[in-house]
Amino acid sequence: MTERFVVVGAGTMGLGIAYVAAGSGHAVELVEVDRDRGDAALRRLADLWERAVRRGRLDADQADANQARITLRAGLAEVAPAPDVIVEAVPERADLKRAVLAEAEALRPALLGSNTSSIPIADLAAGLTRPERFCGLHFFNPVWAMALLEIVVGPATAVETTDAAVTLAGRLGKDPVVVRDMPGFATSRLGVTLGLEAIRMVADGVASPADIDKAMVLGYRHPIGPLELTDLVGLDVRLDIARTLQAAYGDRFAPPPLLVELVAAGRLGKKSGHGFYRWTDGVRSGGSEPVATTGGAESPEAAR
Ligand code: NAD
Repeated sequence: MTERFVVVGAGTMGLGIAYVAAGSGHAVELVEVDRDRGDAALRRLADLWERAVRRGRLDADQADANQARITLRAGLAEVAPAPDVIVEAVPERADLKRAVLAEAEALRPALLGSNTSSIPIADLAAGLTRPERFCGLHFFNPVWAMALLEIVVGPATAVETTDAAVTLAGRLGKDPVVVRDMPGFATSRLGVTLGLEAIRMVADGVASPADIDKAMVLGYRHPIGPLELTDLVGLDVRLDIARTLQAAYGDRFAPPPLLVELVAAGRLGKKSGHGFYRWTDGVRSGGSEPVATTGGAESPEAAR
């Protein structure tokens, strides 16, 4: 397969999507804001393939072939028209995503997708001239390990587009669910609820982050606790999602002040090396870290 697959944004998710798309035979164009960021992303991808070879999941020739399918682009202006797929994975800000999607649409992709975790597809489609080709393509982190692809059908999404997204899921080795366009869809609305409540419990001093996580892993059979998951997702990403859901559903999704404080202090989780846990070279390197508590009182006004 040599379909052209463009991924915009090479952060946590864009890298994972590019990794999986290249592994499934697509010719991937990975778009970053500039060449320095793009080169850093390519180095992270090379590390991922090296690790997969070391762990015996891929042989070295396959890893080299996958890597050779990735081409870096510094901006969408460097992408040739009419790719088969463009997926945007830029930060969770509606205005930024709308600007990126408008530029992407001008390249006339057959399928245009957003990896948004929470923003309604209808909002993102507002400025598009061909919204029938657009849908949510919500991948999960880490993309190579998570089977789910949540396909979000906007009010203008054509049936053919949904069908193409389901076919794409199969080619990428993903198992899709097709969901209606509501803020937070079927996944983030539930998952973020648990994560925000766990953060409020840390602020209330109910237990340490490690014990709150352990309670959910051993008591409810979750594969990972809600605070460690927040570290993996990125505290900044979760904060953006909480704000989107707060605007849609009210203060039950108000970001806990502790989350706002940790993000302001640069404790973003795995990607910054420090969140509720410490991380070294992408691996958890100890128990949970003490966090400054805010006294537990929820203050939606302060969090806005
Ligand atoms: P991130 O901050 O790790 O990465 C975003 C990347 O986009 C950065 O590398 C940034 O340089 C790049 N970028 C910004 N503007 C750009 C532009 N105009 N052109 C090209 N690149 C640009 O964010 P992330 O965690 O990868 O999240 C991306 C999206 O995926 C968000 O919508 C988020 O809600 C969603 N998402 C995240 C997770 C997760 O676990 N982190 C899971 C599912 C979905």
